[in-house]
Amino acid sequence: MGDLIDHAELPRRDCVLPWTRLELSTRRFLGPCCADFQREPVRVGGSFADAWNGSVQRSFRRALSRAGHPETCRESCPTLRSGRERLAEMQLRGGSAPFVENQLMVLEDLLEGREQVRGQPLELMVPPTTFCNYDCLMCEWGEVGTLEDELSAEFYDALAPLLPSVRALEVAGGEPLASPIFRDFLLRLDRDIYPDLRISLVTNGSYLSPGHPILERVPFSTIIISLNAASPETYAAVNRGLAFERVRGNLDALLEARRRGSLRGDIIYSMVLLKQNRHEIAAFVELAERDDVRVRFMLPMFDRNRQSVMTDEQTMREVLHELDRAAERLNERGETRQAQGVLGEADVLRERLAQRLFEPLPDGRADPQDEVEP
Ligand code: SF4
Repeated sequence: MGDLIDHAELPRRDCVLPWTRLELSTRRFLGPCCADFQREPVRVGGSFADAWNGSVQRSFRRALSRAGHPETCRESCPTLRSGRERLAEMQLRGGSAPFVENQLMVLEDLLEGREQVRGQPLELMVPPTTFCNYDCLMCEWGEVGTLEDELSAEFYDALAPLLPSVRALEVAGGEPLASPIFRDFLLRLDRDIYPDLRISLVTNGSYLSPGHPILERVPFSTIIISLNAASPETYAAVNRGLAFERVRGNLDALLEARRRGSLRGDIIYSMVLLKQNRHEIAAFVELAERDDVRVRFMLPMFDRNRQSVMTDEQTMREVLHELDRAAERLNERGETRQAQGVLGEADVLRERLAQRLFEPLPDGRADPQDEVEP
């Protein structure tokens, strides 16, 4: 948008997600983004589709249409800090007529700052299950996740009316591919009915074995592999799942499918920054560079297994230094958007160091393991 319209003429929207995206979290919070950065995440009744113009989404739109910091959002939100979802950064895509028309409607909603919108979401995020076959140090789902909360076939049927205008259906978990219902949904997606729909998958990669039909048939926009390590030793210590060599075989299958053209989306290697892996930040960037994939770093939420890098000054300074170096390297390679994402995480660290705040993220929320599930 910033290339089409002079920045000075664009209304200020520091984050467009309330107009473009709807997320259902593993804990059944609903909103435009990750509940960890919403000031007061709430669970709402009713259908997923109804939430698009429901009270939560409207409160975010109201807050993001006003000047000043949006009261719905935490100061520590890396999306807000990096500016990667500002209106000027928004991209419009070509496609079928209904798909393009919907984007124009969304844009009109955004420019007008409407609370009740006419456009349909461009991105949806759903968690197929909390079950996971790994037990990563920083994530509780390996321990407490269950297939009993698997999203049902009826849930995916109810999504169908939204899908023609959706450009990305994002899925995370738990391990999304551990859900048989979700795998079936993926393999049944009819590209003639949804020509513009792409899937964005966050996965530990263990199910994507060479020759898996998902790699051949599913229209991915992105596959994010939670690798969290650049060496077999750190991989074993952090992820506590398959041996690195097996996952390396799956990564090679992904790269090969991309080379053949059956897999068109971006591949991203993701690392949650922990005490156990922080010494491999530079090596992780190099690994991604060697495999010609994108890279993503994330600050940890909570302090599971005492692994948060947010709890002592020395660790925070070391991680900040490494992130700044990683962003520099990405900028040198012309990967400015990736560098911007890394700097968004780095800025959260920088500010907490300046405030001498040595506590796990997110601020003001109890560890979910202490919460009573609804
Ligand atoms: S600014 Fe952050 S918390 Fe607010 S809507 Fe955007 S991503 Fe969510």
